[in-house]
Amino acid sequence: MERTFIAVKPDGVQRGLCGDIIKRFEARGFKLVAAKFIQASEEHMKNHYLDLKDMPFYGGLCKYMSSGPVFAMVWEGQSIVKLARMMMGETNPADSKPGSIRGDLCINIGRNIIHGSDTLENAKREVGLWFKAEEFVTYTPCTQTFLY
Ligand code: ADP
Ligand code: MG
Repeated sequence: MERTFIAVKPDGVQRGLCGDIIKRFEARGFKLVAAKFIQASEEHMKNHYLDLKDMPFYGGLCKYMSSGPVFAMVWEGQSIVKLARMMMGETNPADSKPGSIRGDLCINIGRNIIHGSDTLENAKREVGLWFKAEEFVTYTPCTQTFLY
């Protein structure tokens, strides 16, 4: 079963959008398997966004991401990496369709409220960067969406 790393960014937390975002993943039928509310260090964010290190916004991005708590989560389900990205919308909220998280809830590319891994490989890397093995819970969801 596929897993992905999702985080409500500091602006999403400050705007009180954690519940709305969690609700969409639950409603879609995905399973929350780990979660924590933490303020990451700038060093941690530099590592998280290492592939963007040459971009002009890298410094500002890592400062913003460490400026307040994020709600970090691991979600599980079929094709979740791709489907979570579809649910999020585009990187730039201005290009995101209504119905998507960014298309419904934000406007500015620099304050786009949510992070989600973009590939299965990056999902594995990010899950490992943010969570230890003992932070995962085990339970059986009471929904027919799960076929195991
Ligand atoms: P995504 O979050 O959709 O995977 P990227 O990985 O390309 O997007 O970029 C990471 C984050 O960097 C974005 O979510 C956004 O917060 C920020 N970002 C991307 N492009 C820009 C930009 N042109 N100006 C400012 N911030 C940006
Ligand atoms: Mg990305």
